[in-house]
Amino acid sequence: MKFELIQGDITKVQADAIVNAANTSLMGGGGVDGAIHRAGGPAILEDCRKIVARQGKCATGEAVVTTAGNLPARYVIHTVGPVWNGKPKEEELLANAYRNSLEQAVAHDVKTIAFPNISTGIYHFPKNKAAQIAITTVRDFSEKNSTIEKVIFVCFDRENYDLYKSLL
Ligand code: ADP
Repeated sequence: MKFELIQGDITKVQADAIVNAANTSLMGGGGVDGAIHRAGGPAILEDCRKIVARQGKCATGEAVVTTAGNLPARYVIHTVGPVWNGKPKEEELLANAYRNSLEQAVAHDVKTIAFPNISTGIYHFPKNKAAQIAITTVRDFSEKNSTIEKVIFVCFDRENYDLYKSLL
């Protein structure tokens, strides 16, 4: 598994799947969630509605898959990161969000996947801790799985980009 690091907008990234930092309602929101629905068009929300009708909200740490609409990807994998309150459980939930997204990617035969910095925006997870969890979780997963060829970490802000650069 190859790792790539870029600074920029995930809606512009060409990959089999891009990951969305969604909320449990799956009905869109601010930050990267808003950007993905705006750029991808209404087909994404339509799929989200069907998922919610079938199985209810998406629990924190879980992941679901929809079309990518007009985006240059085949799928959007929506996962829900934890809101940071400083409890140890939140670190485990963030790791679950990365792991379950990767599991969904494997199930959909995804070879390249792009992640935003889940929970580090509106959900206020400390960026340094989040970057460590993201990289460790993806690395651990890659040791057990070889079907995903490339993981792209897409950092929107400079601070995250610098953190990932030093950790990778
Ligand atoms: P959360 O609620 O999980 O914190 P946010 O969308 O608020 O989700 O933030 C998650 C991360 O996504 C933040 O680091 C934010 O800077 C970043 N982000 C915001 N817009 C984009 C975008 N268009 N592409 C990639 N990352 C983005």
